[in-house]
Amino acid sequence: MEDNKTDFGFDTVAESEKARRVAGVFSSVASRYDVMNDLMSGGLHRLWKAFTIQIAGVRPGQRVLDVAGGTADLSLAFARRVGNDGQVWLTDINHAMLSRGRDRVLDHGKPLPVAQCDAEKLPFPNDYFDCVTVAFGLRNMTHKDRALAEMRRVLKPGGRLLVLEFSQVWKPLAPVYDFYSFKILPWLGKKVADDADSYRYLAESIRMHPDQETLKSMMEQAGLVKVEYFNLTGGVVALHRGFKI
Ligand code: SAM
Repeated sequence: MEDNKTDFGFDTVAESEKARRVAGVFSSVASRYDVMNDLMSGGLHRLWKAFTIQIAGVRPGQRVLDVAGGTADLSLAFARRVGNDGQVWLTDINHAMLSRGRDRVLDHGKPLPVAQCDAEKLPFPNDYFDCVTVAFGLRNMTHKDRALAEMRRVLKPGGRLLVLEFSQVWKPLAPVYDFYSFKILPWLGKKVADDADSYRYLAESIRMHPDQETLKSMMEQAGLVKVEYFNLTGGVVALHRGFKI
């Protein structure tokens, strides 16, 4: 079978190789993931996620799917909103990340269903969820079009998909942002997690990810409608939202 090429940061690798290398990155960072998130973003990731929760508008009794949910920040926040009659599924392809997510969920006294699965092949029926979210996960997926189509498939008509992801920064901020990403981030990664390579991958993968308008078109091509996006922190991050009709 033909193995097409794709990006892994700034490297070009076989598609089959990308999933393996992404798995390597997240298995390596899982134990320090939360502390590094706070350090790298100066706590901003909490605000970006809080905004996502607000825009999601999830109500008691609804069903939510957290794709690439990792250590469960979004799942935990949604669990508080859906109440006892709702449902929040925490999912991720990576066992190390998901284990930490599951432990945090249990520590918070909010047992949730957890599933290890690939966003490109979601093990859920059609038209099942009111809301699907993917935070900082899409960038790492080999076939983003397939993942978006899957997320749309499992949404109920009227349901919404939210994609929170690094994006294209406002031009005047680019020199400082580049310095931070390519010099400070790998240094921090080395000091705190003894893993400069994973944080170099983070910086590179952000540069390779589609910009705001391109991702909007990709979501429309996946069949989502009324797609709009919100730039956060000068476009360091963008939140895209689209609906299934
Ligand atoms: N959503 C969490 C957050 O915002 O803190 C975790 C984000 S973490 C940067 C990216 C996650 O995407 C990792 O846990 C990784 O395992 C997951 N991931 C990568 N490729 C995936 C795929 N094809 N399907 C599901 N999850 C995937």
